[in-house]
Amino acid sequence: MNPARPSRNQHAGNHETRENNEKMLNSKFLGRAPSCKDAKATIKNKIIEDISTQGTKPDDPAAGHYRSLVAKVDAHSRLVVDALGAHMQCGPGCAGCCSHISVFTVEAVALARGVARLAPTQRQAIRRRAAGCGPADACPLLVDDHCTLYAVRPIICRTHGLPLLIASGDGGRMDWCPLNFEGLDAIPREYLLDLEQLNRMLAGVNQAFLACCEHGTPTRIPLAQALLMELA
Ligand code: SF4
Repeated sequence: MNPARPSRNQHAGNHETRENNEKMLNSKFLGRAPSCKDAKATIKNKIIEDISTQGTKPDDPAAGHYRSLVAKVDAHSRLVVDALGAHMQCGPGCAGCCSHISVFTVEAVALARGVARLAPTQRQAIRRRAAGCGPADACPLLVDDHCTLYAVRPIICRTHGLPLLIASGDGGRMDWCPLNFEGLDAIPREYLLDLEQLNRMLAGVNQAFLACCEHGTPTRIPLAQALLMELA
């Protein structure tokens, strides 16, 4: 496999990939329009607590599914970094991928709970940024090019910088940050993350979460909206 390398001036293409991916998530796997009010009003406290701590109760299926997906993506990321890390520029202070994304309810609740655990001044600062954040802005969690809630960042953020396999009409194409993998002639298949497959898994995890809650929103909501959620 010898993929065509994205050029440096295509760095913005990574944002395009993420935007297309979000559109696909909303059109292909999901239904009605997003509503923060729905999520805020209907999610049960027990599930909120379980998900936000990434599964303190191993017997809870919703928490288990989410924890397991996070673990799978992180394990894949470690595999890539162990093998190809010398060719990657990703690291603290690199925030080129941190645009304002959208998230599923299951991720939104994890983020909202993360916000609730912060010191009041930090919490207020995040909510101020979130309240004024538009779709074209940088992620409101970004402070001095660092993620304020890195430990509970959404799934898509855990794929930043990784080589991706993206479904397309002619069978698929590869994409990655053009700052990464310089000097490599090829990227072995085992290091490619199949985005379509990941999207299906994430949509499934969210459905499981919603089923446990009996209510909720099946569509993605802006990350800023998640940061403004008030959890009871
Ligand atoms: S949640 Fe964190 S990692 Fe994800 S886009 Fe925002 S700042 Fe970046």
